Amino acid sequence: MALHLGDYRISLDSRESEANVNFVSHAHSDHTGGVSKSKKLIASDATRDLIEARYGVRAELSSLPDGVKLLNAGHVLGSKQLYADDSAHGYSLLYSGDYQMVESAAAERIELKQADVLILDSTYPYPWLHFGDREETVRAVQRYAAAKMEKGHVIFGAYAVGKSQEIISILNDAGIVPAVDARVAGVNDVYGRHGVHLEYSSIGSPEKEPVLVVESSKLGEFRSAVASRSGKRVFTAVASGWAKMFRFNTDVQFPLSDHADFQQALAYINACDPEVVLTCGGSARLFARNLRTLGYDARPIERLSRFSQSDLLVCSLTNR
Ligand SMILES: [Zn+2]
Repeated sequence: MALHLGDYRISLDSRESEANVNFVSHAHSDHTGGVSKSKKLIASDATRDLIEARYGVRAELSSLPDGVKLLNAGHVLGSKQLYADDSAHGYSLLYSGDYQMVESAAAERIELKQADVLILDSTYPYPWLHFGDREETVRAVQRYAAAKMEKGHVIFGAYAVGKSQEIISILNDAGIVPAVDARVAGVNDVYGRHGVHLEYSSIGSPEKEPVLVVESSKLGEFRSAVASRSGKRVFTAVASGWAKMFRFNTDVQFPLSDHADFQQALAYINACDPEVVLTCGGSARLFARNLRTLGYDARPIERLSRFSQSDLLVCSLTNR
């Protein structure tokens, strides 16, 4: 889908041939389809820098069209929602991207704004799923690392962008300075340039490091390397919202998410007070159905690119 605003055609976290500028809400790979050397991006400076660090593409940023604002999404460093006041058609729109309502140790706090149409991420559509008290989870991470580093090595596996920095920050608050792999270090450098200071070292000999934070895909590799070279026990951990739903192949898992759970989503919708909610992503249908049972006018968009501007107008105008 491309939003039509004056002379602008803005794609939303996707690559659309009709768009002349692409909005990239944040630097996770499932949202960077619009990254291109030939097309300007609407994104934060931090997202542009994280994209360069992760994917080696230095994108050019566009100025914001009239009526468009970027609002913090609270998800990872630089993550933004896109707000558009479409004065030509008489409605306002907010596209959430990935977001969360609670404050993360390594992301800007979410900003809220009323909009007539809300396009909402549906990562966690389940009313029964609660991430619980974040402070308790943070303390559990700190206690686990402190206890196990006395007995051997602790290796956290996490997304290189966002979750790794949050774990490092949590460990730092407990006086622990972890060693990190090269990809995480490259992202940390961007976080540092944007005001998020983290204490860490780069991994030299992993068997000499009591606490490591590595990209999830490298966890098994580091576990094997440390186990084969060190006589001590190796403890592995992940921190993810999916820990509430799945069992990971690690010694421990912490339900630390950078997404909204269902209760957070309701708080977000209520704060935005839209006339219609359009759910997007893989669980769009289920999320819309669960919202409708609570009285919200919610409709799924399973793929943003299959959604047209006229649908927006219909959704918006039929609800007035
Ligand atoms: Zn994300």
